[in-house]
Amino acid sequence: MKDKVLRGLAPTGEGIEISISQGVITSIEKIEAAGDSPLPFIAPGFIDIQVNGFKGFDLNGAQPPSPQSVQQMVRSLWPTGVGKVCPTIITNSEEHIIQTLKSIVKACQEDEMIKACIPAVHLEGPFISPEDGPRGVHPAEQVRPPDWEEFLRWQDAAEGLIGIVTLSPEWPGATDFIERLDESGVVPAIGHTAASPKQIHDAVSSGAKLSTHLGNGSHLLLHRHENYIWDQLSQDSLWASLILDGHHLPPAIIKSFIRAKGPERIVLITDAMWQAGLAPGRYYTGRTQVELLPSGRLEVVGGGGILAGSALEMPVGISNAMKFGDLSLSQAIDLATAQPAKLLGLSSRIGVGETADLVEFSYTGPDNPIIIEKVYLKGEKVFSRE
Ligand SMILES: [Zn+2]
Repeated sequence: MKDKVLRGLAPTGEGIEISISQGVITSIEKIEAAGDSPLPFIAPGFIDIQVNGFKGFDLNGAQPPSPQSVQQMVRSLWPTGVGKVCPTIITNSEEHIIQTLKSIVKACQEDEMIKACIPAVHLEGPFISPEDGPRGVHPAEQVRPPDWEEFLRWQDAAEGLIGIVTLSPEWPGATDFIERLDESGVVPAIGHTAASPKQIHDAVSSGAKLSTHLGNGSHLLLHRHENYIWDQLSQDSLWASLILDGHHLPPAIIKSFIRAKGPERIVLITDAMWQAGLAPGRYYTGRTQVELLPSGRLEVVGGGGILAGSALEMPVGISNAMKFGDLSLSQAIDLATAQPAKLLGLSSRIGVGETADLVEFSYTGPDNPIIIEKVYLKGEKVFSRE
């Protein structure tokens, strides 16, 4: 018995017919791709391991978010094809972090679908570099050295849901902290760092697995040879997450990073702020006024073009991976599905027995955008463009 049949093209271009029953893929048949009406592409639901907010819902505002706000943020991502998301909590006081974690846990407890959409929480900070530049916009007064006891209190509040911690290995005790994260099954990530080559090397030996938004959250000027970007780039056991909005990294760096790591070690992230998904215009944050431009660039008003964060949506990131990284559609889709899944120990493929988290989209070539047509989670249609 099947309750749904989807016909489309796999990202590789071959025609497929997918049968779904009770939220699970029960069969996949090859079909003739050429026909009178063009078939949509079908991919696994996208996975975004770094999201600070979306469409007005902010995880990192002055007050911790309500569980409803967490749920609405997750739902508002569905039309962008993102079916799984790691809500990302940035540097803040322990109390604020714990309240935010509790809201996320409650959001999951109240709604089974939301629970399925949040495989892990990402803690970005507060154990990052205190230096201006690498620290980015994280509040300096809350930056502090790694503290395992504090992490355990977070993880307790999160009921074990923390899956990624981004920190800087420049702190004393960082290697020990990274080792403990790794042993406890949490992905240790390097980011917002001013670490020395040796500290990067030691972090990797201790179990660091990911460079968070490599090339961003750094000094404006660096020594041409001795710097933490080359050191992270050259470490084969370190994957890299990239913000491919075309504003955070120039095309030549995108191509070089993807070539150096190989697409199998690249994870696309949006790192979206709450202004992402809203109409272009000016928005007030706690301290500054920012403007979302029609190009998708989010910048500080009167800041001479300084970025105020990312307003990227995943389909644009996938397009840019093809355009700037010289990847095929299938390779680019993997950066937002298979790779983040592997990093988090999840499954993300179109296969018999897999949960039917699927995205239908149209795409007609490099000069045209990826348009999300329909999104299915556990076989249930949660978005349709019509
Ligand atoms: Zn960051």
